[in-house]
Amino acid sequence: MSVEVYKLFIPKDEECIAIIREIRWSDKYICPYCGSKDVVLKGKERYKPYIQRYRCNSCKRHFNDLTGTIFAKRRIPLGEMFYIIKNLKNSSINQISEELGRDYRTVHSFAKEVMKSSEKDNILKKLLETNWR
Ligand SMILES: [Zn+2]
Repeated sequence: MSVEVYKLFIPKDEECIAIIREIRWSDKYICPYCGSKDVVLKGKERYKPYIQRYRCNSCKRHFNDLTGTIFAKRRIPLGEMFYIIKNLKNSSINQISEELGRDYRTVHSFAKEVMKSSEKDNILKKLLETNWR
């Protein structure tokens, strides 16, 4: 399969956010800073309108769907991070970085962090358990 064909299977950021939101907020919105559930919606991210913003009424801090997750503040696009996660079990880092056209070290360091956090990170655990088709 060519690299171009593989690209088709990189999910859109919007789809990734929808999945993250479903796993993360399945019960209730929880402030990642203080753990309070007294959280209100606070509009969308300006340049990524599919990302919801929130404000905690207890500690008054703002956060969004990605704050405090492994996906926050990364250089790699969200869809590519999902791609790495879903191919971790069946592909080598070499293969994945080639398919994504990314530097080996970039993919490797993200993959390493995923494996390190997978036990305690509920979102990662769910994603790694998912049978991607
Ligand atoms: Zn808070």
